[in-house]
Amino acid sequence: MGAIKCIGILTSGGDAPGMNAAIRAVTRTAIYNGFKVKGIMRGYKGLITGEIIDFTSSSVSNIIQKGGTILKTARCPEFREAEGRQQAYENMCKAEIDALVVIGGDGTITGAQTLAREFDVPIVALPGTIDNDLSGTDSTIGYDTALNTIMEAVDKLRDTATSHERLFFMEVMGNTAGYLALNGALASGAEAAIIPEMETETDQLKNLIDNGFRKSKNSAIVLVAENPATGGAMGLAERVKKEFPQYDARVTILGHLQRGGSPTASDRILASRLGAAAIAALKDGQRNVMIGIHNMEMVYVPFSKALGRSKQVNKDKVELVKILSI
Ligand code: ATP
Repeated sequence: MGAIKCIGILTSGGDAPGMNAAIRAVTRTAIYNGFKVKGIMRGYKGLITGEIIDFTSSSVSNIIQKGGTILKTARCPEFREAEGRQQAYENMCKAEIDALVVIGGDGTITGAQTLAREFDVPIVALPGTIDNDLSGTDSTIGYDTALNTIMEAVDKLRDTATSHERLFFMEVMGNTAGYLALNGALASGAEAAIIPEMETETDQLKNLIDNGFRKSKNSAIVLVAENPATGGAMGLAERVKKEFPQYDARVTILGHLQRGGSPTASDRILASRLGAAAIAALKDGQRNVMIGIHNMEMVYVPFSKALGRSKQVNKDKVELVKILSI
């Protein structure tokens, strides 16, 4: 592949607040540096169907504050198949796109890695997921906004939990990672977080009850990461009903609320920096890397590292949540 003249941009997988700020930053930095930009609709689906549009600076006006993604997003099973990716590559060539910036989570980056391996396409990925479950980056686009949404929800739930003296399990997203649950608990003063990372080490529910979470309180809010293995908040409430029937346990599932809303300042700044860094990376001849943030600096993370499981939740925070809720 020769010199890059035109960059295609897409958002894929679950939407995350701040994706629009990233689209804006990629588009405008690219144009500033003399590249043409094309927007690809509905993630990899748009590459396969050829839904590709020319982008100008004004295409991304007035979007920095908006949640969701103006490029739309989709799950695209066809892209998992070789024929789908062949079609995607042909449409890229037809549209004269020389390089891609993809914004999404681990599935999106896995797809990018495969496309880059099969065809000679420079691809840079930006971590766009509320789950914060990508390695090599301290944070992902949308994570901070989702965390704030969770914090506000717990603040509201607290009113009814204290009035009725109930135990509430609030289930949050995370795609089997505990970042949202654990940091949501710290930020909101919840009594505990039950996270998949501790699942095999200890019976977190039994610990919670054994520690006598009601010694000095008449209510409790426990943040529970979604986890098919335990059935999440519903699974825990069922267990309480059977094993600890003295407690009046209720469940709140925050669900897709966590995906919405105007991005926080922190997410907008992160998305803007990552977007600009994606273009700098392509100019530098980098390919097949995710841009991450580490210790406040932009870093290039090979796809294989981003998809690895090297990032760990700080389990000391589980103890801190407990200490701070006595
Ligand atoms: P989130 O973390 O928010 O769920 P994600 O990017 O992980 O976002 P996925 O639905 O897992 O979301 O992946 C997005 C898209 O990436 C898929 O719909 C599919 O088109 C593509 N993709 C995922 N896994 C693969 C794979 N193994 N091979 C090729 N393409 C893939």
